[in-house]
Amino acid sequence: MCIDRLAQKLAREHTLNDDEYLALLQNRTPELADRMAELARAAREPVYGTAVYTRGLIEISNICKNDCLYCGIRRSNGNVERYRLEPDVIVACAHQGYELGFRTIVLQGGEDGFYTDEVLAGIVERIVATCPDTAVTLSMGERSRTSYQRLFDAGATRYLLRHETATRAHYERLHPAQMSWDNRMRCLHDLRDIGYQVGAGFMVGAPYQTMEHLVTEMRFVEQFKPDMCGIGPFVPHHDTPFAHEPAGTLELTLFLLSMIRLIHPHVLLPATTALGTIDPRGREKGMLAGANVVMPNLSPVAVRKNYQLYDNKICMGEESAICRGCLARRMESVGHHLVVDRGDIKR
Ligand code: SAH
Repeated sequence: MCIDRLAQKLAREHTLNDDEYLALLQNRTPELADRMAELARAAREPVYGTAVYTRGLIEISNICKNDCLYCGIRRSNGNVERYRLEPDVIVACAHQGYELGFRTIVLQGGEDGFYTDEVLAGIVERIVATCPDTAVTLSMGERSRTSYQRLFDAGATRYLLRHETATRAHYERLHPAQMSWDNRMRCLHDLRDIGYQVGAGFMVGAPYQTMEHLVTEMRFVEQFKPDMCGIGPFVPHHDTPFAHEPAGTLELTLFLLSMIRLIHPHVLLPATTALGTIDPRGREKGMLAGANVVMPNLSPVAVRKNYQLYDNKICMGEESAICRGCLARRMESVGHHLVVDRGDIKR
């Protein structure tokens, strides 16, 4: 089958067999990428149009008990100045975000034992009580089902936990033996059972990743159907075992964004900060490939430099208000527009 027919088939049927997925991935050309992006925008159009949802991201702690081989704030990196934000500071950042027009606040951090269920639930309750019509999203790693339930009961309605890779053997090469793919998947299923809108995702061009792995990723998106799918290029961090691995590419990330949009037209698809890091117009190009979410940084400027999961991360110095204005202009430049909206998934 000619490759354009395959692209059309994906747009029409939202699924391909393994050989077909592989053929699309292996026969990428600039022309095919343009075609995929065009189909992806057409798939997005009736659901979200050109609206871009924003999530205000507060990086609440860079203290982490885990040792993921790719991550700059891994436990064994002794060169990080560690910090954690106090509940009052987090709530104040959320309020600032609300004033700026954010209607989703994301609390993300390392797996820091300071944030017990009680502490985290308290923060969530305070944000929910004081920011009308705002969704609180958590991205605090792997926790027990009881913990997820408690945080849901406190008012958190969304959870972001990238699965990192849908292939167990690949997961084991990216993480130390203490971490398990099964537990990561258990978490995602618990979160969904409890009633959260769930975000999963993976890094493009992660060390050891193959095209076959990417086929498995596409199948995962098809079957698990995450509400959000966060994909961004792997970017090496100089103080990790993967310091000398090559970064994922803009081209492959954009192509995968389009594929994911075609598989799951309703999915919330962020153009990530990592994409903006490897290309100065990465996030704008992400929108043109089918993305519809951006997640600017609301963390206090003083701590931003310490939340470096990878090298050369953008937006380290600007105040949150400046960031929002800058993003608004960037989106306008490619015919998209930021909206003041919770940005729930449209099912
Ligand atoms: N501790 C939380 C939050 C993780 S940070 C959790 O476990 O979910 C958010 C995401 O950043 C990770 O899931 C990972 O996919 C991504 N990330 C980490 N290191 C990265 C790197 N070097 N390059 C690109 N993305 C990275």
